[in-house]
Amino acid sequence: MKLVLLGAPGAGKGTQAEILSRTLSIPTISTGNILRAAMKNGTPVGLKAKEYVESGKLVPDDVIIGVVQERLAEPDCANGYILDGMPRTIPQAEALEANHIDVDCALSIEVQDQTIVDRMGGRRTCKNCSATFHVVSNPPKVEGKCDFCGGELGIRKDDAPETVKARLDTYHKETEPLKEFYQQRGKLKSVEGQDTIEETTAVIKKALGIE
Ligand code: AMP
Repeated sequence: MKLVLLGAPGAGKGTQAEILSRTLSIPTISTGNILRAAMKNGTPVGLKAKEYVESGKLVPDDVIIGVVQERLAEPDCANGYILDGMPRTIPQAEALEANHIDVDCALSIEVQDQTIVDRMGGRRTCKNCSATFHVVSNPPKVEGKCDFCGGELGIRKDDAPETVKARLDTYHKETEPLKEFYQQRGKLKSVEGQDTIEETTAVIKKALGIE
């Protein structure tokens, strides 16, 4: 299965991608996580991406396309992948097509803006492995510590309320048109993501015809 997850920042793409990745035994390619790791390590890609990521703007398409092409060439992607956070613009989707990177289904997780703003305030992210938690709806077993690797949890800089608003504006302007793009190709499926993680997983599995 070659899957693209669409949805606003905070819609639950990362959380659902990790669950689907385990169910389907295919890797999740999260451009946000790749960029944050590159920034932490001070690589050339990280240096280019930093100011965009921290202010909630999109990183230029050519940087993203290079990063994704490189990652998809790795052997673990041969049987399928879940793209979380890419494509985020029509040119990125066109670049996937131009490079024969297949997409079987684009799944859009629909969540209202106000719910997003409320959710982002409580999001905590592992500084080591990027796993995400929420202080109310998905708390870690030990406060401040990642359930998976024991790393320290923190608040992403771009989860600050003003930056969240900028990211939502960018989503509506640049990314939402991708729904029409994939609709025209008969590949779009939409699900409600307003409810709990488990309920959203259930509707996604139903939409994808798995389990
Ligand atoms: P995310 O973790 O998916 O919310 O991404 C965090 C930030 O990384 C975004 O706000 C952008 O600055 C950048 N980013 C991630 N994926 C992309 C992409 N496909 N195109 C452009 N910028 C991206």
